[in-house]
Amino acid sequence: MQPGRFQGQQSGTSNDDDNPFILRDYDHCISCYRCVRVCAEQEGDYAITMMNRGFETQITAEFNNRLKESACTFCGQCVQTCPTGALGDRKAMRAESLPGKLKKTRSVCPYCGVGCQVDLLSKEDKLVGIQPAMDGPANEGALCIKGQFAFDFVQHDDRLTKPLVRGDDGELHEVDWNTALDHAAEGFRKVLKEHGRHAVYGVASGRAPNEAAYTMQKFIRAGFGTNQIDNCSRA
Ligand code: SF4
Ligand code: SF4
Repeated sequence: MQPGRFQGQQSGTSNDDDNPFILRDYDHCISCYRCVRVCAEQEGDYAITMMNRGFETQITAEFNNRLKESACTFCGQCVQTCPTGALGDRKAMRAESLPGKLKKTRSVCPYCGVGCQVDLLSKEDKLVGIQPAMDGPANEGALCIKGQFAFDFVQHDDRLTKPLVRGDDGELHEVDWNTALDHAAEGFRKVLKEHGRHAVYGVASGRAPNEAAYTMQKFIRAGFGTNQIDNCSRA
């Protein structure tokens, strides 16, 4: 083997892609095309591809642009399949300097009714990243942008952890659950009395298990006497 004729040749163009999710550092790329194939064959997106031919072949986004300007949905599957680190999870990499050992915990994505399995990456008590579970029966290693990257809400300062009820002063106030539920029941009674049963409409959560969805339709049908009940999973 004489490796000299390959020396200095790079695959892909490092174009300082400024998206917040995926680092593209083609100095580490070995032109295996796994990213191109997963984008086309699994995600059906064709956001990244090869350009040029033979020795000059390069990995690139559409029109050699940045990912933000391409059809990329930021599903992260190219990052997960890249064997060399040429593509990296920028959000997880930010946690490199945090103290503690990286821990993996198997869980289920909380966003929609598909129920993709994920491995949560944490350091001490902080959630720092997410990886798709390759053996997850519903997703088999795939995720969408929300499951892959949208986990900041978990530790966000604005996250609601207690019920809020609007008072006579027009402001929202923290209350206990019994007070909040009484307030909601009173609101339902008022609407029924003033506008009748067809003024009530129920939408069950896509994350609700069958039993909860059944209870919800019973609550709307038997409780209010209307068939106006739906489930957001239908979207
Ligand atoms: S993040 Fe998903 S859509 Fe974007 S380039 Fe990678 S595989 Fe394709
Ligand atoms: S998967 Fe990684 S190493 Fe393979 S072609 Fe894509 S960027 Fe290069």
